[in-house]
Amino acid sequence: MAELGQAVLSLVTSLINGLPQAPAAHFPNTPTQSEPAPENPTPLPALLDTIAQAAQQGVNTAAPGYLAYIPGGGLYAAALADFLATALNRYVTVWNLAPALAHMENSAIRWLCDLFDYPGTARGILTSGGSLANFSAIVTARRTLLPPDFLNGTIYVTAQTHVSSAKAAMLAGFPQSSIRVVPTTNDLRMNPAALSHMITTDRSAGLTPFLVVASAGTTNTGAVDPLTDLAHIAQAEGLWFHVDAAYGGPFYLTQRGKNLFTGISTADSITLDPHKALFLPYGTGALLVREGHLLRDAHHLGADYLQDLDAEDAIPNFSEYSPELTRDFRGLRLWLPLKLHGLQPFRDALNEKLDLAAYAHHELEAAGFDLPWKPELSIVTFRWIPANASPTTTDAYNADLLDRVNASGRVFLSSTRVNGHYMLRLAIVSHRTHRDRIDEALTILKRATH
Ligand SMILES: *Cc1c(COP(=O)(O)O)cnc(C)c1O
Repeated sequence: MAELGQAVLSLVTSLINGLPQAPAAHFPNTPTQSEPAPENPTPLPALLDTIAQAAQQGVNTAAPGYLAYIPGGGLYAAALADFLATALNRYVTVWNLAPALAHMENSAIRWLCDLFDYPGTARGILTSGGSLANFSAIVTARRTLLPPDFLNGTIYVTAQTHVSSAKAAMLAGFPQSSIRVVPTTNDLRMNPAALSHMITTDRSAGLTPFLVVASAGTTNTGAVDPLTDLAHIAQAEGLWFHVDAAYGGPFYLTQRGKNLFTGISTADSITLDPHKALFLPYGTGALLVREGHLLRDAHHLGADYLQDLDAEDAIPNFSEYSPELTRDFRGLRLWLPLKLHGLQPFRDALNEKLDLAAYAHHELEAAGFDLPWKPELSIVTFRWIPANASPTTTDAYNADLLDRVNASGRVFLSSTRVNGHYMLRLAIVSHRTHRDRIDEALTILKRATH
């Protein structure tokens, strides 16, 4: 065991140490023919070579130059926690099978609840990501507020809301027409007056408005909806108020985040993705529900073969709050890095990302790029408008610009469309991305446009 572990550890150490020099993306011709399941053993070193080579292909999402979509990085301490969790292989979703370990997971969830000043009645679950957190939130809102025949229910989002909410609604059985797209103000935030108006109109048309999904950091631009105003409307109208803070949530650890997210504590539920701005490895999302029993009421069904299990006590049976019964001990992946490092380095890193985004915005603007929105969090959305260009040629120019920038092998960016325009994004979230790499990205971008 020690020898095998040592071999894996040396590979991991050299791969992680090599991240700053590694290509941001690398797409050679990958063999795709499949092979039969092996009858015979292969020694570990040969398998580690195969894994190391495979890891050198594709987009290097763990590397400092990864600025596409929403990066996360993946803390080494969390990988150690995963190793421990799977090596121990204990069952934490029914608390009395591993009370002390389940308590650790529950503590980690409680820290997330404390972050948003949620009351003692709040409960939460760790999911594989924001998509499943949004799914459980929508199911909880539906089962709390709508009758079993729920097809008249309507859900309020904006064009900037992450598509996982519409997908969750679809999976929860809602028709496409239940998704109501509320107009935004020029800063891409949900317009509260328009929301009020749509709720009234929908009610008089015989529909049943029941859920507002606000974003605390949109994926396109990092925009934060006016949470306090939206919360007031939801409350006055008797709607569930869900905040999708999958990307932005952890910024609440910083003073700037606190100021931006005023009102989030009144949300009925909050999604956050520790595998984004808490820098954890993929597979770590969370849903927090203010009145925790509603989450349980929405997900729990008993079964005879579970009759030996104790009813929940101070520690929840996570399986009763979630679609999942058996799963990995995810809580350790959150618990260990937070205990090992303490909160301050996380706060410092998030402040650094906010500073870097403000800096990149300033530099790109000075270099003549078009930046219609000031970054509220750590995503900078921009484009280059060539002289005498039409909207179509501008879009094409920027798509080509993205390809040329990504071909540098030093940074990897992604694009989106906002208000119909092709836009590039710099998402500065990874704990491995610092000023030196942002300066490099800016140099590459400026060179590519001149
Ligand atoms: C990433 C993201 C999601 C989806 O989360 P996954 O972890 O990818 O499933 C949902 N909402 C927002 C705002 C996001 O940024």
